[in-house]
Amino acid sequence: MTLKIAIDGPAGSGKTTTARLVAKRLGLLPVDTGAMYRAVAYECIRRGINVNDRKAVEKLMDSISIDQRLINDEIHTYLNGEDVSRKIRTPEVNKVVSIVSSYKKVREKLVEIQRKIAEEKDVVIEGRDIGTVVLKNADLKIYMKASIEERAKRRLKELREQGVNITFEEVLNELKKRDEMDSKRELAPLKIPEGAIVIDTTNKTIEEQVEEIIKEVKNKIHT
Ligand code: C5P
Repeated sequence: MTLKIAIDGPAGSGKTTTARLVAKRLGLLPVDTGAMYRAVAYECIRRGINVNDRKAVEKLMDSISIDQRLINDEIHTYLNGEDVSRKIRTPEVNKVVSIVSSYKKVREKLVEIQRKIAEEKDVVIEGRDIGTVVLKNADLKIYMKASIEERAKRRLKELREQGVNITFEEVLNELKKRDEMDSKRELAPLKIPEGAIVIDTTNKTIEEQVEEIIKEVKNKIHT
């Protein structure tokens, strides 16, 4: 039996950590698709490509390879063979990632990579368009949501732990902008996939989120 779990939701809803822990419990491969879009955004910044120049960003897609591997239960993202896992989680990348992710050629290339991984392995794959586009036939679709204040609080903690000097308001505004761009874009906008189970994580711990998903998986298997 194969098992493919799709998790979607806005930034800070708890998708990445939950996906990683659910995957560990069930012996599946966790895939963080947001990290792939981040890697593209990071490469634009590094090469001095204007992210508003769609053609230039799309051209970049011909010369980059993106790959993900699990090392000691941590997801590592590789850009042309270089481990960029830490470099892609900065306020600079946060600011522009939703712009590059709205471009057709960027999405086509990354969706192809994501589908190939999910074809070869059983996965818990998380992002914005997994249940609606990437894996429409996933065995289980989850949509995680949380209040914007709670998500900003979580993101602020993460950034502060990395030593980034940023205020709550700055994080809140960045999340609002990204929510808006991700859910209003023409291609593969963020929305609740048909048939998805919605989990509100505002007042839930990571452990509770993980348990809830495991329970849904068990229900699915037994029906
Ligand atoms: O999940 P994370 O916050 O790391 O995602 C970063 C950005 O990548 C999102 O704000 C969104 O613009 C883009 N993304 C996407 N489709 C996905 C995953 C992420 O467009 N499946």
